Amino acid sequence: MLTVDEAQALVLDAVSALPPRRMSLLEALGCVLAEPVVAPIALPPFDNSAMDGFAVIAQDTRGATAEAPRAMKVIEDVPAGSEPQRRVQPGTAARIMTGAPVPAGADAVLLVEHTRPGLPGEVDVLAAAKPGDNIRPRGEDIEPGEVALAAGQALGPGELGLAAALGGTEVSAIRPPRVVIITTGSEVVAPGEELRPGAIYDSNQVTMAASVLAAGAQVARCMHAADDEAAVAEALADCGEADLIITVGGVSVGDYDLVKTALQRVGEIKFWRILMKPGKPVAFGHVDGRALFGLPGNPVSALVTFELLVAPVLRKLAGRTECLPAAIKARLLSDVSHKPPRREYVQAVTRRAEDGYVVQPQAKRGSAMLTSTVGANSLVVLPEESRGERAGDLVEVIPAAGAVL
Ligand code: AMP
Ligand code: MG
Repeated sequence: MLTVDEAQALVLDAVSALPPRRMSLLEALGCVLAEPVVAPIALPPFDNSAMDGFAVIAQDTRGATAEAPRAMKVIEDVPAGSEPQRRVQPGTAARIMTGAPVPAGADAVLLVEHTRPGLPGEVDVLAAAKPGDNIRPRGEDIEPGEVALAAGQALGPGELGLAAALGGTEVSAIRPPRVVIITTGSEVVAPGEELRPGAIYDSNQVTMAASVLAAGAQVARCMHAADDEAAVAEALADCGEADLIITVGGVSVGDYDLVKTALQRVGEIKFWRILMKPGKPVAFGHVDGRALFGLPGNPVSALVTFELLVAPVLRKLAGRTECLPAAIKARLLSDVSHKPPRREYVQAVTRRAEDGYVVQPQAKRGSAMLTSTVGANSLVVLPEESRGERAGDLVEVIPAAGAVL
């Protein structure tokens, strides 16, 4: 049986990044840039005012104070978006707004607060300006020809904003992976339907679809197959649009090894068991060149195996280089039991305390108990050989993807 580390290395090694395509800036949110964005213009494109005030010649304001103001002739108004028409000469100033181009001749902007209205057509300057004051020089953010965004850069709101500031409407980025989800089980019925004796509602379809979306990937389709090898094989043969397939349930021995047998028929299996808890029965393989995960049916097992194995693969497909979840250290707030030899992941609430992080494992721990996930923002990692950890011990914790601790 593989260890979790071996399984993670194997699944990441089995896939590579999807091909890039051109997409609109908003579509590219969360995607990885495939081709660099080179600045075609300077940012800012022209010297402009950082404040509302008066464009002046700094030297002209020397010695000005509230007690000894310097009167200046106001030659024009320069609102943002306009083009200054006149040159600032000694003894003159132009009223200027934030973002407006600095008129020729001026080398500083005096804040409105450092002036007061003077005689008609004049302003009284109450403080001295230094050259460059309150001016954002052309190209201070980026010069034309510089690489604004390098290939491999993940695109968030700021990066997309920079592309737009440079006049871009599209980027070449790696599209999000598309996932097909197949739940299995003859006992499983869709929520909303009648719960006949012996049946349970399908929670895995929504937890898996939500996990896929939360990982920044797309749900291409959800299917359900009864516990019947032909039905599973038929669903597996119908995953044309998928970059990755997830089946849930039917991988444990008691379940007739449904997915395993179906997968052996239409694809190839690399492993079907891992030394982890929850989630010992996890299959990984390929169908028609697409990666397939056969996750266990127990809802908490499905969530944990998704986070540790599927999410990293989705990140790799999406072009990311950091794919595995990073662990932090936290102090346990209560004892947790454990027996070798499987590495165990316990739903937990982690928060920042004065001297680092503290973590409270959830009271319920069953792999079938979804209430254990409510409010949990992390997993406590209990090493393979651990005989249990004590309150006060420093343990490894994996924050849930996107969790704010
Ligand atoms: P399996 O992996 O198919 O042996 O399923 C393990 C346990 O998870 C069984 O108790 C199933 O009833 C349950 N289970 C399987 N699929 C689902 C599902 N889609 N939603 C909720 N529970 C499920
Ligand atoms: Mg089943």
